[in-house]
Amino acid sequence: MTLLDRAIVRVLPAVPRPVVKKLSRRYIAGSTLVEACSVVSGLNEEGKMATIDVLGEEITSREEATALLAEYEDVFETIEREGLDSNISVKLTGLGLNLDHEFCRDNIAELVREAAKRSNFVRIDMEDSSTTTETLELYRELRGQGLDNVGVVLQGYMKRTLTDIAELADLRPNVRVCKGIYVEPAEIAYQEFETVRMNFVEAVGALLDAGGYVAVATHDDWVIGEALTLIDERGLAPEEYEFQMLLGVRPELGDELVREGHRLRIYVPFGRQWYEYSLRRLQENPKIAGYIALDTLKRLKP
Ligand SMILES: Cc1cc2nc3c(=O)[nH]c(=O)nc-3n(C[C@H](O)[C@H](O)[C@H](O)COP(=O)(O)OP(=O)(O)OC[C@H]3O[C@@H](n4cnc5c(N)ncnc54)[C@H](O)[C@@H]3O)c2cc1C
Repeated sequence: MTLLDRAIVRVLPAVPRPVVKKLSRRYIAGSTLVEACSVVSGLNEEGKMATIDVLGEEITSREEATALLAEYEDVFETIEREGLDSNISVKLTGLGLNLDHEFCRDNIAELVREAAKRSNFVRIDMEDSSTTTETLELYRELRGQGLDNVGVVLQGYMKRTLTDIAELADLRPNVRVCKGIYVEPAEIAYQEFETVRMNFVEAVGALLDAGGYVAVATHDDWVIGEALTLIDERGLAPEEYEFQMLLGVRPELGDELVREGHRLRIYVPFGRQWYEYSLRRLQENPKIAGYIALDTLKRLKP
């Protein structure tokens, strides 16, 4: 990233919302479920699976959490009715993790049961480090209740990840591995690009060795190559792992994986609360400085 890119990433939160909305259109499936389903249907036609995320990160009341739960139940009903190949991704804070632990536990258990009724699956996204322990404990609790149609996420930048894998190994967990998107302190999270990559790949290997199901979530060619080597060394069949990518990010790389016979799932976010998600995606986009500069120039034109 150049100095200018870095500077623009820092000022991004000050960029007007309409500009952010325009720039982030490629990352968001729309504000309604109908729009999300249309995107999922298109992806399915391209041989890609999906995971639908209802954007709802900023909830502050039980009512909002209950409303989000109902929205997700609607998503499951619609996926089934329309015969889409998609599961869902959910953030526990959206279901009330920061409001009341037991309330959140009941919500996630209800959602996973609803998914089970429809032979579907719930992926619990991983949020910042203040939620990691509670998230993994809730995952273990759900599995303890016999709910196996649920998975979690572990982040390559977290120093605890390999220990978490060792502790979860008895569950043969279903885990999405990603690099991690939140800003975390150096005491608990690797900061160097190469170390994060290495820890990511080690996590994939450890999970495969534990007999878990791994979803390799990245757009990083090197990490994908290393994961493919690990998969190849173990002689896994295509249904024994998957790759995952974000909507709008490096779709041609995804096409390549599909052409090579690997399963690929695209993360499809939709909803009215698009702003925070969009900022995170834009902050990762190396071309963002150029886009913003161009947009600003256009605005300055008489
Ligand atoms: C399916 C999925 C689910 C995720 N779930 C979580 C989660 O639960 N918790 C969490 O903390 N994080 C999650 N993430 C985000 C993840 O942690 C990373 O922040 C993100 O994927 C970027 O890392 P990368 O591995 O693609 O590597 P990077 O090194 O960031 O990117 C590799 C290459 O991809 C391209 N690229 C990456 N992002 C963009 C972008 N936004 N726009 C344009 N090009 C881009 C660039 O060319 C870059 O060189 C998820 C990611 C994916 C793919």
